[in-house]
Amino acid sequence: MSFRLRLTLLYSALLAAALVLFSSLLYGVLQWAFEQSVDRTLQEVAGRVARYYQTFGALPRLDGLGDRSTFILVRVDNTPVAQSSNFEGLFPLPEAARHGRAVFTTEFDAEGEPYRLYTLPVRFGPTYLYVQAAYTLRLLSTAKSLMMQPIVVGAILFVALGAVAVWLVAWKAIGPIEKVAKAARAIGESADLSLRVPYQGPEDEIGVLVRTFNDMLDQLEGLYARLAASVDAQKRFVADASHELRTPLTIIRGNIDYLRRAGTLDPEALADMASEAERMSRLVEELLTMARADASQTVELEPIALGPLVRDACRRAQAMPHQVEFRMEIPEALDHVVVMGHEEWLCRALMILIDNAFKYTAEGSVTVRAGRQGDGVVIQVVDTGQGIAPEDLPHIFDRFFRADRARSRGGAGLGLAIAKWVVGVHGGRISVESELGKGSTFSVWLPVVKGKRLEALPNP
Ligand code: ADP
Repeated sequence: MSFRLRLTLLYSALLAAALVLFSSLLYGVLQWAFEQSVDRTLQEVAGRVARYYQTFGALPRLDGLGDRSTFILVRVDNTPVAQSSNFEGLFPLPEAARHGRAVFTTEFDAEGEPYRLYTLPVRFGPTYLYVQAAYTLRLLSTAKSLMMQPIVVGAILFVALGAVAVWLVAWKAIGPIEKVAKAARAIGESADLSLRVPYQGPEDEIGVLVRTFNDMLDQLEGLYARLAASVDAQKRFVADASHELRTPLTIIRGNIDYLRRAGTLDPEALADMASEAERMSRLVEELLTMARADASQTVELEPIALGPLVRDACRRAQAMPHQVEFRMEIPEALDHVVVMGHEEWLCRALMILIDNAFKYTAEGSVTVRAGRQGDGVVIQVVDTGQGIAPEDLPHIFDRFFRADRARSRGGAGLGLAIAKWVVGVHGGRISVESELGKGSTFSVWLPVVKGKRLEALPNP
């Protein structure tokens, strides 16, 4: 059952109930008022007869005491003593009257016509004289049945009109909702999240509903775009990773074939295989790190003094092959600067930067320095190497990106992506400034644990 129909039925039922209640009330009040007025008349007429009798010891002329619809009877027990000429028959004597109490009753004659009867006992020696005044209620039942028809017809008309009005109002109110539902269904079926529900109406409940729905579509569209981008990135990642793994495997298999055919252990081929195996294991480790980053694996952070950490990274980096001068400009004050970090990961990120600097610097120097920047600390790896072309700079932290396309240095292009992830996990930032032919500066900014003063550090 539609909402519109339910609303109409409910309203009609309520209206019908209200009308029935109102008509019953009207009926009741009418009857009560009529009976009140009849009762007063009867009381007055019977009272007049009683007073006359008590004053003069005889009964008055009963005709003319009331109007033509008032019948008067005076009786002693069941024997009539006097009666008005319009009298139509004997009424029963109510039990209460026999005990001397004046009483009103409603009686019915042989045809079932209702009468209002007032019985007034008047002392008559040892017993009572009963003065009875009756009034036909025919008028009331006629009036009631006369009223009944227009009331019923009117009520039916009212309910019908009300139902039509409610149906129309509901149609007007629900129409836009149906339109919204239709548009929403169409959007769902087309799976086109760029569509929006059109609405030109006022900013009422329906306007708010449409706006909320469209806002939700905005969010879904954004979410979907991000999801699609992430799926694309994953696909690219898997393709690139397999490609990277295939190269060393091909070299190793080629060398194994050659060794088999040659029947000797050629040291050059063995060295090739060892270096490719080494490259593969490095790559697998990097891929694992990236997979871990994608799984949003959190890294346990603890307070670490930066000075010792940076020095340790430099010391370990120094063991890596390099042909340029390596300088460390790490101020003593860095020993007192504490960051929330993971020692091993931070060390690895710095080593990636230093290793890159070594790899891409043929002459000059590589310098590691640290200083204050805002409310954090910045560690920089500065080289005087080949630099990075401006068009490559925006992609330098992308996975598998290599500006050095000839792969002469053998990396898979994952190092900087890993460094970026590590710095991000620490709530920091990584950036690069570079000039082709002059050198590059990689900066890692890290937030410092609150309360630790940085003033002692120089600006880099
Ligand atoms: P790779 O393992 O290839 O070094 P990275 O992600 O560490 O991968 O670096 C991505 C690319 O950025 C490198 O291939 C190289 O072309 C460029 N690059 C990184 N560091 C430097 C640097 N210090 N000087 C010049 N080029 C650099």
